[in-house]
Amino acid sequence: LFRRRRALPPLPLTWRRRAGGGGPGPRWDVLVIGGGHAGTEAAAAAARSGARTLLLTHKADTIGQMSCNPSFGGIGKGHLVREVDALDGLCARICDQSGIHYKVLNRRKGSAVWGLRAQIDRKLYKENMQKEILNTPLLTVHEASVEDLLLTEPEPEHPGKCQVSGVILGDGSRVHAGSVILTTGTFLRGMVLIGLEMHPAGRLGDQPSIGLAQTLEKLGFVVGRLKTGTPPRLAKDSIDFSIMERHKADNPPVPFSFLSEAVWIKPEDQLLCYLTHSNAKVKQIIYDNLHLNNHVQETTRGPRYCPSLESKVLRFPNGIHQLWLEPEGLDSNVIYPQGMSMTLPPELQEQVIACIRGLEKAKMVQPGYGVQYDFLDPRQLSASLESRLVQRLFFAGQINGTTGYEEAAAQGVVAGINASLRVRGKPPFIISRTEGYIGVLIDDLTTQGTNEPYRMFTSRVEFRMSLRPDNADSRLTLRGFEEAGCVSQERYEQTSRMKAALEEGIAVLKSLQFSGTKWSKLIPEACIATSRSSPASALDILRHSQVTMEHLARAVPEPLRKFAEWRELAERLKIEAMYEWHVNIQQAEIEEVRRDEALQLPEDLDYFTINASLSQEVREKLNSSRPQTIGAVSRIPGITPAAIINLLRFVKTNR
Ligand code: FAD
Repeated sequence: LFRRRRALPPLPLTWRRRAGGGGPGPRWDVLVIGGGHAGTEAAAAAARSGARTLLLTHKADTIGQMSCNPSFGGIGKGHLVREVDALDGLCARICDQSGIHYKVLNRRKGSAVWGLRAQIDRKLYKENMQKEILNTPLLTVHEASVEDLLLTEPEPEHPGKCQVSGVILGDGSRVHAGSVILTTGTFLRGMVLIGLEMHPAGRLGDQPSIGLAQTLEKLGFVVGRLKTGTPPRLAKDSIDFSIMERHKADNPPVPFSFLSEAVWIKPEDQLLCYLTHSNAKVKQIIYDNLHLNNHVQETTRGPRYCPSLESKVLRFPNGIHQLWLEPEGLDSNVIYPQGMSMTLPPELQEQVIACIRGLEKAKMVQPGYGVQYDFLDPRQLSASLESRLVQRLFFAGQINGTTGYEEAAAQGVVAGINASLRVRGKPPFIISRTEGYIGVLIDDLTTQGTNEPYRMFTSRVEFRMSLRPDNADSRLTLRGFEEAGCVSQERYEQTSRMKAALEEGIAVLKSLQFSGTKWSKLIPEACIATSRSSPASALDILRHSQVTMEHLARAVPEPLRKFAEWRELAERLKIEAMYEWHVNIQQAEIEEVRRDEALQLPEDLDYFTINASLSQEVREKLNSSRPQTIGAVSRIPGITPAAIINLLRFVKTNR
């Protein structure tokens, strides 16, 4: 890796001359600031879609670094990883080359809300990500600190706005670009806190970014302050796992990427995770020492979605909190205690650890700490993630108020694609709420903003029956290829083949119709309870929980055998059958809104009292906008599709 980094092509001559100031630098199509999870995806996506891209980051060695948890995916987040993969993004494939414990969460619920998740070997992930980034055609990586933005006159069609044209580096040199993407994570005026101590840092051991924070402020961007934290790390060989609950990985593991037939690790070589719990002694230490904890106080408890142990104890004083012990790597002696994020002084963190079952003799190898940082109010961005204030300036990742690698990666792909399209003068690539979790994430951020780190959940998604992890490729890959050019030919062909096979399979299953009695005889082991005389299609029968494509193919080999023999296709047909009914209803709702776009809304409608299922926030927005038609409602930022359909139905039944 390091050999490869040294072997990078020398900086273009014009740029080298520029070091120290004066004269024009080279011009890149897209310039990405920050090599974290958003920045790597943004840079790779821009390069894949044809832009000459420069990734500028503090240290090339931290590309692919997981600042906090050694895991990817989870409920809602797994969907994002699949969608990033559908757009040919990197993180899903890199996870499949680095995972050490795969588990699908929410298995007992329907596959629409399954949460693909894996523990990741930190070291491997970083190595594999760096290999990938350094081998991406059209992408160059350079270590530098970006201190300021270069601005020029606005484009005539957008009067009043200024336009970014490049950046100024720490050494004063200038780099020019068609579009710039800011992905600086927690680094803008970052401040690390442990106990009563605080010092400027983007994360432990990394310098903060001050110059850029000042630039954004000067330009008039609204910025806020957020906080997050990370747990202490423990030495594996000092933990008594024998008295903890063991959790095995899935066998076989479910890969993240549509391109991975299997993951790199053998199922039997996957590592275990363990579960232990907090207790009354932990609570006491936390309460007794709140005066020594600058990051978490009774009134400022910190983030809701990756809360510290202290804030969980303050919020739920009678709760016993789960603490998961997760491996950091195959050959690592470090354990990540998930759920134990702390900012007490280190000696008190050791006391907390020592009173937890199984951790009585555990050695702390690094204390937990908190970080506070500036973030940009994402309502200043459009759905393409371009800023409304400065043309051609895009923002992605934690800087937009999100938390998590997956949310960062998802925004990175979208910003990278759009920064590249912008340079080529092409229309933006927008994913709607009805097309993907990425669409929901970006719509929520850009229309509603956030006042605490935003985390993805399935509950945020109105059309979750259609937006499943299994069909992210059908939803996004072809669009990514045709409209953004960010998808490889190989992936495009694979998805097209699968899409055609699914359509053919569903049509064939629908066309095979027998009476209930005949189906019961054909597949006796499934105990099909269907009306004896009325005909049912093979697709209806596949909806029964016990029936698989193999059953159907044994019963009716021709024409079903070929669909059952293709294992992945058979699994996807089963899921399609299970969700067909829900998806049809949702599709009908989408069509209903489209059909009734011109429907006039009564001028005297009192949005605060009408008997329709609308949130208070939606009622307020409708009342202040007073839209004239349903079409106009759908264009109000922050009005969800579910709210539109509920309002539409109310108006239709009450006119
Ligand atoms: P980052 O991964 O932070 O990357 C930012 C990159 O930008 C860095 O490489 C940095 O060097 C570079 N950079 C910054 N400024 C400049 C500049 N001026 N010039 C050049 N390069 C620059 N997520 C969770 O989901 N759960 C958690 O519990 C959690 N806890 C966290 C605790 C801590 C202490 C930290 C630091 C993060 C935590 N996260 C957590 C967040 C998770 O790490 C981020 O969401 C994710 O890494 C964000 O990705 P990003 O690309 O936006 O930023």
